[in-house]
Amino acid sequence: MAIVASANSEPLIRNDETMKYRPLGRTGLSVSALSFGCMRLADDPPLNEKLLSRAIELGVNYFETTRFYLGGTCQHRTAPGVKGKTDRVIVSGKSGLGADTTAHSFRKEIELQLDILGLSHFKFYQVGWIQWKNFPYLLRRGGALDALRRAQDEGLVQHIGFTGHDEPENVIKMAETGLFDSFTVPYNMINRAYEPAIRRAGELGVGVVAMTPVAGGVLSCPSPALREAIGLDLPTPAIALRFVLSNPNISTACSGMNTMQMLEENVASVGKFEPQEENFQQMCAGLDRLREKAGGRFCTFCNYCAGCPVKLNVGQLMEIWQHDKAFQLHDWARDALKALPEEARPDRCTFCGACESKCPNTINIRERIKELIPAAT
Ligand code: SF4
Ligand code: SF4
Repeated sequence: MAIVASANSEPLIRNDETMKYRPLGRTGLSVSALSFGCMRLADDPPLNEKLLSRAIELGVNYFETTRFYLGGTCQHRTAPGVKGKTDRVIVSGKSGLGADTTAHSFRKEIELQLDILGLSHFKFYQVGWIQWKNFPYLLRRGGALDALRRAQDEGLVQHIGFTGHDEPENVIKMAETGLFDSFTVPYNMINRAYEPAIRRAGELGVGVVAMTPVAGGVLSCPSPALREAIGLDLPTPAIALRFVLSNPNISTACSGMNTMQMLEENVASVGKFEPQEENFQQMCAGLDRLREKAGGRFCTFCNYCAGCPVKLNVGQLMEIWQHDKAFQLHDWARDALKALPEEARPDRCTFCGACESKCPNTINIRERIKELIPAAT
């Protein structure tokens, strides 16, 4: 691997004209309210370079990467845009664990990602896609944690975090181990499942990176209901970012961006935004009211209802229903229904009720499927 310089303590860049900054837990790092998820960079090197340079110019100082995005090209697409500026921004790396992960293999992966990015060290490295059931692979003697601690001792990694989609109670357990400086979980107006874990992180002084703050683009769609619930007369993506950053325990909203317009608009949405704790409580109450109006019971995508005799993906249909009926993301829902292959469409349902009897949330699945049919046909 190429070690290009030793670890340094240069302060991260700031541009207080255009960006706000927040502490990343107790790391002492001050991260931009908007961070850059590099998992959506296009296969367009000149554009990527311009985008990343402009992001840095606007004060974005955290870039999330891993070798495992974009078919292995994410870090290759990122590196040229951050070249020469990495002393003053965070470019994170990430790798997962499994039964065959050893300290040696984990170390090799860290070195490989440093090499691709042209970094001397990671200011921040994440254990990716972690689940509580795989935690022993991290902790065991000769496992990934040994590699991370050694890399920290050598200055190759400064701070460590984890990312994943495990149950919120398991995210809390992992945060409570005290091993991590931060975690990264999905969080947005239509997915607040991790709110208890985010609250606990605040109590523990653990930083939180919110991934999918715009729900992977779902919240690009206009929604009068969300605008009213949040109480901001702005386009939905701006409302989405402001909601996430109104949560006092969020360190940064990490958005996957791949156009200059998206970057400029997102920076404009958060750069001058001063969140107030009481506004966050009102926003949550507004979102709760939307759920109540739609019958309260929401799919948690547990998949206990699997085994539909006509092979419908009930969770997917419930998600479309929720976005359409509760959050009034009508354009998104219409497009999602139209994009379903014929065999996955709601009119295939025979209304046998087998799924309903297995649903722990006692959702009236057949009723909701019936309501989706007119828009799908
Ligand atoms: S009610 Fe419809 S979705 Fe549910 S199991 Fe029966 S056919 Fe499948
Ligand atoms: S069992 Fe209920 S909550 Fe779970 S995926 Fe199916 S509909 Fe959703």
